[in-house]
Amino acid sequence: MVALACPHCTDTALAARHGENRNGTERFRCGACGKTFTPDGRPRVLSYEKREQIENCLAERMNQRAMARAQGVSRDTIRAVRKKEQSAS
Ligand SMILES: [Zn+2]
Repeated sequence: MVALACPHCTDTALAARHGENRNGTERFRCGACGKTFTPDGRPRVLSYEKREQIENCLAERMNQRAMARAQGVSRDTIRAVRKKEQSAS
């Protein structure tokens, strides 16, 4: 257990190692709220929900310009999600 600042409860709590992300960075589970987080990971710009919506749209081969407008994100964001999808599979 190590003391880490939890981004969920914004408290410095004892956190236990909780495996790794697929890019190899360590994940921790907060001992106070039980949620997992990556202490030195890049800030999550997209919400998980929005990313999933974009991934679904990509799977449907939707027009990227229309997708960006519907989701309120830039086309660069969609390209980034697509790139991540391709490298993950
Ligand atoms: Zn917490």
